[in-house]
Amino acid sequence: MKQVFIDIVNLKASPLYEYRIKNKYLPVIGEGSHDAKIMFIGEAPGRNEAETGHPFCGRSGKMLDELLKSINLDRKEVYITNIVKDRPQDNRDPLPEEIEIYAPFLLKQIEIIKPKIIATLGRFSMQYVMERYGLKDKLAPIGSLHGKVFDTKIDGEDIKVVPLYHPAVAIYNQHTKVDLMKDFKILKQYI
Ligand code: URA
Repeated sequence: MKQVFIDIVNLKASPLYEYRIKNKYLPVIGEGSHDAKIMFIGEAPGRNEAETGHPFCGRSGKMLDELLKSINLDRKEVYITNIVKDRPQDNRDPLPEEIEIYAPFLLKQIEIIKPKIIATLGRFSMQYVMERYGLKDKLAPIGSLHGKVFDTKIDGEDIKVVPLYHPAVAIYNQHTKVDLMKDFKILKQYI
């Protein structure tokens, strides 16, 4: 994991590298237990995250903590990361080339942590993870996939992929929050 950190810190080839340096931002690698059974994968750091180096530490982080608490989990017991490790300008959606350059680091993190469950947060990580792990033909809009449990294998090991809405959406949309609460109860059954 240390090597993952070093490689991302030095990732001059990233289209987001200059922006990070110019703003004195930090890359956000991920944090939590390296023995976690469950790994949450978000989209990309926002400003709070890039200023501190911690994932999900702003308003969507508060929402994520609340959702974790609703199933008696603390963020120290899980691993939380993003598909893109540097902040995209003005919180825009990550571009395909950004996902491509950071994805090998995510794959390495999955290899190290060996989670039993991957919960994707939002459509970007859902799409990447499902395509990467043999679930491409099951892809559909997040509105119909959230809370569904997909079985696949990573390096010969059984793993479940559960797409979830991004917690940021639940800040403004009470219906999404209710859906997320229900979907976290589904997650709990597998922990
Ligand atoms: N949104 C994300 O997808 N990731 C973060 O770390 C923070 C907000």
